[in-house]
Amino acid sequence: MKDVKINMGKIDYFGGCPVCGGSDGQLNIGKIVWGICHKHKKRWLIGSGLFSNWKDETEKGWHRNKELLSTYEDVEPLRNPTYWAETEEYDEVASDELPF
Ligand SMILES: [Zn+2]
Repeated sequence: MKDVKINMGKIDYFGGCPVCGGSDGQLNIGKIVWGICHKHKKRWLIGSGLFSNWKDETEKGWHRNKELLSTYEDVEPLRNPTYWAETEEYDEVASDELPF
């Protein structure tokens, strides 16, 4: 990990590879969404049922995704502090300053 500078502000909303901070998008297996980095063979769990596009995919496609992901390492993704700071602020406002 030496001399690797990761621009945290460029990390994908759905998380980034812990090695390079990058992301090659998301892969669905059924309703489960995984973030991936092909270069470093990392995967991280994003969530379930976040996108509706999984319904347009076939079981064959999911099987292919599953095969691919089974060769990738399960990791904790890097989080873009911009998005996560915003989320915190939003939570605070929502719980402490209820206008009505
Ligand atoms: Zn990577």
